[in-house]
Amino acid sequence: MAGKPSLFRIGILALQGNVTEHIDAFTHACRIQDIPHEILPLRKKEEITGLTAIAIPGGESTTIARLIDKNGMRDAMVHFSGSYFATCAGLVLLASEIIGEERYTPLGILDISVSRNAFGRQKDSFESDINVQGLDTPFHAVFIRAPVVIRTGSHIQVLAAIDSMAVALQAGKHMAFAFHPELSGDLRLHSLFLSTLS
Ligand code: GLN
Repeated sequence: MAGKPSLFRIGILALQGNVTEHIDAFTHACRIQDIPHEILPLRKKEEITGLTAIAIPGGESTTIARLIDKNGMRDAMVHFSGSYFATCAGLVLLASEIIGEERYTPLGILDISVSRNAFGRQKDSFESDINVQGLDTPFHAVFIRAPVVIRTGSHIQVLAAIDSMAVALQAGKHMAFAFHPELSGDLRLHSLFLSTLS
């Protein structure tokens, strides 16, 4: 069995969105677990080589997708052999299908169909304590113009749901969230992800 890498190198996609919060969250989560780490902003395809994981932050998925293509990063991201940790717009970008979106193609890493901003205007942003598989007590989840997962493929494990809609999921080594775990001051989901890396 392969052991844990001696050094976790985590690239935070830093094209647009809340990058600093993820850098801070992963830095603290690694320190708590005493994991040797390098948390790096990721802006070029050359920087992907040698990463253990890539985090895709929330933001505006249309803009992030455009910048991924502009920077020539799409192929390297699609073929990345490490793990993804994706939040909100990041979850949209990893999907195989975005309902009603014709301006750009998502990366197709996760076999899910999503609807952007589907919680609707009155629930543009909301917070909710949700049960997440793998955590002992509820997680305070911050939703900001969150996407809804309409369909999950057979290899997708739903970790949390609201009204039967998946809001946290795992697919093998990847984890994706419709909410923003980096904004809660609770590092348990970052830690859970770190514990799956090898
Ligand atoms: N709904 C936004 C999008 O699709 C994501 C919002 C967010 O990341 N907070 O880009």
